[in-house]
Amino acid sequence: MKPIVGVVGLGIMGQPMARNLLKAGYPVIACNRTRSRMACLTDMGAEAACSPAEVARKAEIIITMVSDTPDVKQVILGEEGVAAGACEQSVVIDMSTISPSTTREISRILADRGIAMLDAPVSGGEKGAIEGTLSIMAGGPEEVFRRCLPVFQAMGKNIVYMGESGSGQIAKLCNQAACSLTILSVAEALILGARAGLDLEALLKAISGGAAGSWSMSNLGPKIIDGNFAPGFMVDLHQKDLRLVLQAAGEFGVSLPGTALVHQLFNAVQRRCDGGRLGNQALILALEDLAGVEARRR
Ligand code: NAP
Repeated sequence: MKPIVGVVGLGIMGQPMARNLLKAGYPVIACNRTRSRMACLTDMGAEAACSPAEVARKAEIIITMVSDTPDVKQVILGEEGVAAGACEQSVVIDMSTISPSTTREISRILADRGIAMLDAPVSGGEKGAIEGTLSIMAGGPEEVFRRCLPVFQAMGKNIVYMGESGSGQIAKLCNQAACSLTILSVAEALILGARAGLDLEALLKAISGGAAGSWSMSNLGPKIIDGNFAPGFMVDLHQKDLRLVLQAAGEFGVSLPGTALVHQLFNAVQRRCDGGRLGNQALILALEDLAGVEARRR
């Protein structure tokens, strides 16, 4: 019999991840701060809970998928948080992208109460969450990771154990440094192509199959040339991640000039009206302002 899985946070990512757990046959109990967002899950057979504490009282494994470090602290350690309802058999899995040091702090507090915690942030975007093909990078006790592997397999394909608590979050920050620069590379290629008068659809087709190909080019390139800036991953959340990457760079004493540059360019996008709520493909808007050209399909 499959364990009951709780999901706290049903946003762009949490909702499809919970749907894939239901499809894989896990009983799901879910809660979301904005209750109206829960309807499409309860329609599929998930049970609705009023608080993270209620989720934890009823589920053996509790997944949190909320926005930022203070939000994870609140839904786990706050009043009516997960810790208030969890017991010694519970496993808490935070799949949000947050600070590695706060992750270790939360994990220690839970461990003192006999509750196990994994950090298991994801990559692959909304598309990966919908298709159940996320990359999942996990930190925490290895034996707990092994026990939870089937749950991860319901949501992802490439699932890698990284080591002690916080290692999953550090791996995710490395991922964010890398993908920030692939978005910039796509944007720069499209700006040059647009200024030179190329057909941008043909350009993406020509270069995405070669050495320049990337997830960003295949998934975000077509959105850019269609002028589709709806969020798969919001600029505000991307900036939250880049702040964490640059903070880690400071802590470890390494220079990440490319990541710092993308962070500065996203500042310009955030200054636009509602710019922070656009998808991260909107990075190109900053370069379009600099170049005086729009990179759109003919
Ligand atoms: P989102 O659509 O903005 O959803 C955020 C969710 O967190 C919502 O359900 C929101 O509830 C809830 N939440 C936020 N603060 C809360 C609080 N203080 N208390 C209770 N609930 C709270 O964001 P998302 O894109 O799903 O991202 C979730 C996490 O996954 C983030 O850490 C992000 O960095 C990471 N991530 C995102 C992507 C992506 O492509 N989107 C990819 C990889 C990783 P409401 O509905 O009430 O606002």
